[in-house]
Amino acid sequence: STGTSTPAGGLDLSLLKITRNPAPGVLPPSNTLVFGQTPTDHMLTVEWNLGTGFEAPEIKPYGPLSLDPSASVLHYSTTMFEGMKAYKDKNGVARLFRPNKNMERFNDGAARMGFPAVDGEVFTELIKKLVDVDEHWIPTDPGCSLYIRPTMIGTKAGLGVTASTSVLLYVILSPAGPYYASGRKPISLLASTEHTRAFPGGTGNRKFGLNYAGGIVPQTQAAKLGYNQILWLLGERHMLTEVGMMNLFVSFRRPDGTVELVTPPLADLILPGVTRDSVLCLARAHADPTTPFRIAGFPEKLVVSERELYMSDLVAAQANGTLAEIFGTGTAAILLAVERIGYMNSDLKIPTGADGMGPLATALLREIEGRQIGEIESEWSVIV
Ligand code: PMP
Repeated sequence: STGTSTPAGGLDLSLLKITRNPAPGVLPPSNTLVFGQTPTDHMLTVEWNLGTGFEAPEIKPYGPLSLDPSASVLHYSTTMFEGMKAYKDKNGVARLFRPNKNMERFNDGAARMGFPAVDGEVFTELIKKLVDVDEHWIPTDPGCSLYIRPTMIGTKAGLGVTASTSVLLYVILSPAGPYYASGRKPISLLASTEHTRAFPGGTGNRKFGLNYAGGIVPQTQAAKLGYNQILWLLGERHMLTEVGMMNLFVSFRRPDGTVELVTPPLADLILPGVTRDSVLCLARAHADPTTPFRIAGFPEKLVVSERELYMSDLVAAQANGTLAEIFGTGTAAILLAVERIGYMNSDLKIPTGADGMGPLATALLREIEGRQIGEIESEWSVIV
């Protein structure tokens, strides 16, 4: 898919200018890393103007941006981003995971925001150059990675609510520790009947800053009540959409002995997660008797469904014992099991198995992490 057409000057790798940081920093010990709090030495920036297209890309020392106080992004939230990671394999080689999926989602967002499309292959090459320049910032401890944040903002000066005729495309990096220092604890969710993350016809399926701003206070309130994240519901029937900043999966035991793995269908409510897609690909291959692939350590037969789920389905399945597992998926944590859902003033207890994560979630986590860190050979893993 493409964004708004770019009349002139596409992204050009051959114009890249690199200015090294004269005072490079040091990667802190991974057990001290707080998500997104430690910038690396460099960032990538590319300016774009409607008349001339993209300027020469630059890798330069990380530092503040200069914006006009009337810039579009500061008033009308014309900002969108991606979230991806670089992982070091056991030979010390840096790898990305399915960067083409991030590029596709970025351009879908750009089209909705009235921003220029970027050539996904060139942008990926630029990201690889940046990761390469800051390669020593990739932590190598188990579960660690370098978080990559591609961003595009509307920089046009002026208060008119119109498509930005200039944008800044940039990428920053931040080393990420293991999601949970003390192991992968299951999480609790507060099913919010009060706040809505996304709605039909809205932009919830895009990584727009505006989708996240409204979630901050509800998240703080949920944390005060002792829940880790919000389970975002929609409408009077309390349809399930997403978990905090993760996609949602629920599995049910069926009368014929198979397990049904369900996730809400993609529409304007659901962010098309790269991890979500990876789970679906693996689960569908496992479910398909004509493929040799089976999820390691998960012997059961699977049925995979993208269908709407309502709180009444969860309550009923929990009561009659057919609810098997609930988990969230996303780049940050890969996969987190859910152990408890606060809903209408009571708590639904969700099965998690003996080690705090059910058998399907455990098996899928191994399959995905193995491909991210290059331990399982896969075309999903892209060498930097
Ligand atoms: N839903 C939302 C709202 C998110 O922000 C994210 C994080 N990008 C996800 C789901 C998970 O997507 P991914 O697997 O691509 O990280």
